Amino acid sequence: MVKKVVLWGLVIWLLLSAISPFSAQAQGGLAVLDTSTHTEFPAELSFGITARSNVNITDIRLHYTVDRLSFARVTSEANIEFEPAATIEADWTWDMRRTGGLPPGAGVSYWWTVEDAQGNRVETDPARVQFDDTRYSWESLTEGKVTLYWYKGDNSFARELMVAAQETLNRLAADTGAALEKPVDIYIYADARALQGSLIFPQEWTGGIAFTRFGRIAIGIAPEQLDWGKRAMSHELAHLVVHQMTFNPYTELPTWLNEGLAMYAEGSLEPGYVAILQMAAAEGGLISVRSLSSPFSAHPEQSSLSYAQSYSVIDFLVDGYGQSRMFDLLLTFRDGSGYDAALEEVYGFDMDGLNASWRESLNQPVPPKEKAGMPLELVGASSS
Ligand SMILES: [Zn+2]
Repeated sequence: MVKKVVLWGLVIWLLLSAISPFSAQAQGGLAVLDTSTHTEFPAELSFGITARSNVNITDIRLHYTVDRLSFARVTSEANIEFEPAATIEADWTWDMRRTGGLPPGAGVSYWWTVEDAQGNRVETDPARVQFDDTRYSWESLTEGKVTLYWYKGDNSFARELMVAAQETLNRLAADTGAALEKPVDIYIYADARALQGSLIFPQEWTGGIAFTRFGRIAIGIAPEQLDWGKRAMSHELAHLVVHQMTFNPYTELPTWLNEGLAMYAEGSLEPGYVAILQMAAAEGGLISVRSLSSPFSAHPEQSSLSYAQSYSVIDFLVDGYGQSRMFDLLLTFRDGSGYDAALEEVYGFDMDGLNASWRESLNQPVPPKEKAGMPLELVGASSS
């Protein structure tokens, strides 16, 4: 019976503290009366506080953490500048133009600490603010772990994108075993211009962007660009799936694997890429798999060829060795394995071996074994 009373007491206390969030936020004469947030997407996130005491308030700090995948929880602290007084109304603005931005809908947890001249100290309960892009009236559609947000175009536009997203996930699961572990949010802006307006440091070529650690995608798709949009969205979605599956503190994936899986998830290779691949093969200008492990060339022709080849290498591995090996390869990379070691372990060949077998599959002469440490060399270019 006593236990029950204690339990009910606890329930009532919990209810009361849920109703009045500031009940525990007072010590001595010091109390936090109000806190607030204000978002100006994409540039500013502001935090406000009102506190009162019998004596001067001497110290106010904002503590915040950004919700994203990481290995260590990073808490930032902003020291608020103000003239000591018994009642303080203060605010602090996080200027994203100085730090780089956050994706739409990113969550930020925060709490305040306040001290007065008598040594009283109050810490508010943690609260969460979502950095929403409130410039548009978003509609949403959820299926499984995917939520689509859009504001231009009708329901069938969103529906069609959702079907493409689910097809992408099915294709990845069937052919590589990779699947989403956590929910993802996809923000569809009305076009590339609107997307760029949502970024702090937009790049001219940005049509879509995967914020992998946030599980978010932002992409500009005009309703008349639906076919391009489906591919671009599928590509970015695959990056999220693969990132969730292989996230580890030791290594990044080789670029050919990461980009190849994203290209593969889009569907069959587009004719333009097929032509680039065939031409490079005919001219002896294929890039080695080892070179494709590094970030791709910024040169447009080399970049397109790198994407086309990465698709081709993934297609070769999935087609020739099956789903379970690709799944094992991703798991091996999650354990932080090196590039050659992971391939050796799962397929029995290293990157040069992969390069040779893949080239053979394209009826290409097999080049001599590449020396490690020359990752940017073009294999085959000198033999033509
Ligand atoms: Zn990509």
